[in-house]
Amino acid sequence: RAKKYGGNQIIFFASEMNVQIKYKFELENYLRRAIEKKELFLLYQPVVDLQTGQINGSEALIRWNHPNLGLISPMEFIPIAEETGLIHEIGKWVLMEGCRQNQEWFDKGYDELFISINVSARQFLHPTFVEHLHESLQYSGMDPKKLHLELTETGMIDNVEKSIAIMQEIQNLGVRISIDDFGTGYSSLSYLKNLPIDTLKIDRSFINNFTSETVDYSIVKAIITMGNGLSVKVVAEGVETYEQLIELKKMNCDYAQGYYIEKPVYPDRFIEIMNNKKFQIS
Ligand code: C2E
Ligand code: MG
Ligand code: MG
Ligand code: MG
Repeated sequence: RAKKYGGNQIIFFASEMNVQIKYKFELENYLRRAIEKKELFLLYQPVVDLQTGQINGSEALIRWNHPNLGLISPMEFIPIAEETGLIHEIGKWVLMEGCRQNQEWFDKGYDELFISINVSARQFLHPTFVEHLHESLQYSGMDPKKLHLELTETGMIDNVEKSIAIMQEIQNLGVRISIDDFGTGYSSLSYLKNLPIDTLKIDRSFINNFTSETVDYSIVKAIITMGNGLSVKVVAEGVETYEQLIELKKMNCDYAQGYYIEKPVYPDRFIEIMNNKKFQIS
């Protein structure tokens, strides 16, 4: 097909592709060393309880600061980590560091905080995962109930039986399970009914431009109603305005997270926010 565009075009595509492949290959090599070089770190985005207006926990979000390339988004390097299998080691580091941080806060008297940690499907399905989870809990000494793991529907759909088994194992440890980006995957509701989950996180694409007139509004409302019916907690992601916050509270949504409340921040800033912010939601 490319032939009809002529020879030059093919060469252009090929070299363009080479650049991309080379860049990815470079990233992969750098990523291999990123943990030992201490280039990875976690930011924490506050999660607010809509009933009390208080910050109840945080989501840990990974960042990679490369000395030459600068800050690289997880959207860019997590897929590479998944493809190459580096996700197991990186994921282990995230678990260890997230649990450690949450326990540090606990020890300082912020003893109600939960921490939500993203887990890739490939990481989750690997036999070492539950081992790493054990280690993180033991090493940090944190209460397992305060650890929430965020999984996506898409990752589990091909491995439903196995996923359920692992989820059960995790819940037996006392750890909570959230479905991240809910509404964007393909899972059917009957499948959802059989999943041992504690929380649904409504994908931010539905929250973005929802006002009482939109289809997204109905979808968000339906998800919250369903969550209440299934006795799972519901978190709204990507809340950017006060109006959205108010609407979500009216809808009986349990928790909210988003730039309106706070961006993902460094641990010091998180404590500052804990000390100073309470959200008036009414
Ligand atoms: P996610 O788990 O759905 O995380 C939410 C993303 O939305 C974060 O992007 C967060 O910074 C962003 N966000 C939060 N509030 C708002 C808002 O009000 N508006 C907008 N536009 N965005 C908002 P981030 O930190 O770039 O992370 C992107 C994705 O990378 C995450 O999506 C998650 O899938 C993945 N990720 C991040 N950290 C980890 C990790 O430690 N392990 C794994 N496996 N994946 C991770
Ligand atoms: Mg998440
Ligand atoms: Mg999400
Ligand atoms: Mg996600």
